[in-house]
Amino acid sequence: MASSTKKAPAAAAAHSMFDAVLARLDKAAEIFGLAPEVAEVLRHPKKEVAVSLPIKMDDGSVKVFEGYRTVHSTHLGPSKGGIRYAMDVNADEVRALAAWMTFKCAIANLPYGGGKGGIKCDPRTMSVGELERLTRAYTRAMADVFGVNKDIPAPDMGTGKREMAWLLDEFNRIQGEDSPGVVTGKPLTLGGSKGREAATGRGVMVASLAAMKKMGIHHKNATAAVQGFGNVGSHAARLLAGKNIKVNAISDHTGAYYNEKGIDIENALKYAAANGNTLKGFTGAEAITNAQLLTLDVDLLVPAAIQGVITGANAGDIKAKLIVEGANGPTEADADEILNNKGIIVVPDVLANGGGVTVSYFEWVQNKYGHYWSEEEVNTKHDASMSQAFENVWFNAQQYKTSMRIGAYVTALKKVDKAIRYKGNY
Ligand code: NAD
Repeated sequence: MASSTKKAPAAAAAHSMFDAVLARLDKAAEIFGLAPEVAEVLRHPKKEVAVSLPIKMDDGSVKVFEGYRTVHSTHLGPSKGGIRYAMDVNADEVRALAAWMTFKCAIANLPYGGGKGGIKCDPRTMSVGELERLTRAYTRAMADVFGVNKDIPAPDMGTGKREMAWLLDEFNRIQGEDSPGVVTGKPLTLGGSKGREAATGRGVMVASLAAMKKMGIHHKNATAAVQGFGNVGSHAARLLAGKNIKVNAISDHTGAYYNEKGIDIENALKYAAANGNTLKGFTGAEAITNAQLLTLDVDLLVPAAIQGVITGANAGDIKAKLIVEGANGPTEADADEILNNKGIIVVPDVLANGGGVTVSYFEWVQNKYGHYWSEEEVNTKHDASMSQAFENVWFNAQQYKTSMRIGAYVTALKKVDKAIRYKGNY
């Protein structure tokens, strides 16, 4: 098993996701007047670990998987961030996602730095046994990186409470003691928090309503399109529909579905649950493409699937007045200006999908405390925290006369800059 700890190059290959982070960071740093030495610290992740994970497959063959964990910053507290299982996972992507977690946690006002992990694999084609062996091998390889007060993983694309339960069990076996707070997004019986599973979608809903209020759009007359019907997209669609917003379109990797009268989301949820968690063949709407979904004439567009779907090439065709980024990095840096020029308000990922890590933080607090809250208590605290984060970003965007995205980075920089200076460890 190979393992290495190294520093990242300042900027990876062209069009890398980390470049997209640096482009926004540089812009916010300039507007905010961030000292070059502080910017330089943030341009480099603190630690990167890459491992090879040899796994015995069900057919008797051995396959070697690539695993990553990047800790971008621990200036505000232990690093926090999910673990992604997908075929496009690579060092650059994990580095970008880790940096976004630094900004996201600061914007959500949590005592955390940023981290992220991933394994290059296709979980849809693997058996439960293979996934368990892979998750346990990854945990063993990262046992020195993870820790309740060090680095705390959580679910992301392709992982959920099942994987977090395996991770917790493997970590506990290595440590010889029970540390429920080492991972969040766990099943309730293992110390998970009520409200965690729906939290990211709930945050998207709260941010959407807050933005509509600022824009003078009455949500009861609003229409929406949601890309992605996994953890984030399905809960976001359900909760938006629960606020009487007409969800005209939903989608997943199998295709997109449009209904002028609004899609019955409860029906779509039941359909997906009965069809291997996909919408393939959904009959409650007409089939369109994921590309068409992005340019529908709706008030609200929620990209909640994968990164890089809104680009310089299609941004000009977007008709939504408001984009609330459920996914991480759905908008490429070269689309930002096009959207701004069209007057489209973009609630950026680092703010909009912060509901998940907020309730992850609540889970960690409850684990430390050994006392558990009701769902109502979690949701009330979440909504208040999300609304406050939205107001802070809105305020900074107005004050610095910039977009919400750059306003969000400025909001984060205000905190992280202070922490780096107080600690002064450079
Ligand atoms: P998930 O694996 O539960 O769901 C992903 C969804 O996207 C699925 O419905 C899948 O079919 C769909 N999808 C995949 N490729 C697609 C494509 N090319 N076109 C359209 N749809 C496609 O993942 P998730 O946890 O919902 O995460 C989605 C995004 O939200 C990711 O960017 C993730 O980093 C981000 N995010 C997740 C959380 C969380 O708490 N789960 C928190 C913050 C941000």
